[in-house]
Amino acid sequence: MNIHEYQAKQLLKDYGAPVSDGRAVIRAEEAKTMAGELDGPLWVVKAQIHAGGRGKGTFKEPEAGDKGGVRLTKSVEEAAEEAQKMLGRTLVTHQTGPAGKQVNRIYIEDGSGIETELYLALLVDRGSSRVSFVCSTEGGMDIEEVAAKTPEKILSFSVDPATGIQAFHGRRIAFALGLEGAQVKQCVKLMNTLYKMFVERDMEMLEINPLIVTDKGDLKCLDAKMGFDSNALYRQPTILALRDETEEDPKELAASKFDLNYIALDGEIGCMVNGAGLAMATMDIIKLYGSNPANFLDVGGGATKEKVTEAFKIITSDPNVKGILVNIFGGIMRCDVIAEGVVAAVKEVGLKVPLVVRLEGTNVEKGKEILNTSDVDVIAADDLGDAAQKIVKAVKG
Ligand code: GDP
Ligand code: MN
Repeated sequence: MNIHEYQAKQLLKDYGAPVSDGRAVIRAEEAKTMAGELDGPLWVVKAQIHAGGRGKGTFKEPEAGDKGGVRLTKSVEEAAEEAQKMLGRTLVTHQTGPAGKQVNRIYIEDGSGIETELYLALLVDRGSSRVSFVCSTEGGMDIEEVAAKTPEKILSFSVDPATGIQAFHGRRIAFALGLEGAQVKQCVKLMNTLYKMFVERDMEMLEINPLIVTDKGDLKCLDAKMGFDSNALYRQPTILALRDETEEDPKELAASKFDLNYIALDGEIGCMVNGAGLAMATMDIIKLYGSNPANFLDVGGGATKEKVTEAFKIITSDPNVKGILVNIFGGIMRCDVIAEGVVAAVKEVGLKVPLVVRLEGTNVEKGKEILNTSDVDVIAADDLGDAAQKIVKAVKG
């Protein structure tokens, strides 16, 4: 789960990390009051969406004088005006995809004078099973280009979980970032704070880009992106409260309410499968026969008829889906439960695309009978290869 920049900065502030003072604006009419509570003389007006690259982003249906999703302004009036101009519009960045994201919140922040822009991130490195710091002197809006063209300018350090963070980690990062004097001390303190926060709050990713040296020579977190481990949210109620469902894919949101493992993709064949491994194999074989999966969906081992019905409805609600492949290997999951779910869902929402079903395992005969005696138009398949070829053929015509 991701949170907004303004929420991440509040969390940083709570832990004592250096951030600017700012105000979140949800309603346009609040903008002026909020901006007026800040000191100036520079007000930064920032679109809040769960995607980076806002500074270089562009709005759909461009307007004269558009300046991307991060705007520097010089008065309360101008700040309020820019906030109002952005609210409700759709911002497209290299991270949002071409559809963009609607801007429903704005963060107005006290502007900083910048000496240098650095890059800093913490992440769970699955290779070393450790939390790693990633840093670069080349922070700011071109970090992707730095990674592509001069990867040697990006350094990483991992922390042994047995010792936890030590002062030498912070000093090493300070040295890699070219910091001097009092900044080294600030860096050691900040790295301690960030590491503690990362572990305590079950984060997956924390990115500060840019981490700046201000014109007064101090370190400050100028941007913040945080991602949290969804499996740990049960013990992070204050983080869960920051969830903004309007930022999530509506299909993934519906799936999460029914505890389904669903990931939206951009292909044309909807898949309903049990078991993550079989789901991935199914996606692979669809590709092998010349098409692309519209989703990953693992209905899990102990799914009920209601859950299967819901899963099927989520798949059919995707306008990109031109055909559906149900591939079930009944073990704990019973084939008759799947068949009942499919029939119930088709009764409720209809079926406008071809449907191939491959059932194998527990109660397979019962499952096939349910499908055969229903009036659902099913193309039966014998094995995985057969099923994939049939659905691709049905979709491609
Ligand atoms: P992103 O484009 O979504 O990553 O948004 P950022 O919050 O990183 O802002 C983009 C850029 O705007 C930064 O790299 C800075 O160059 C600039 N910027 C952001 N805040 C300030 C500020 O307080 N003062 C100045 N001078 N520039 C800022
Ligand atoms: Mn940034």
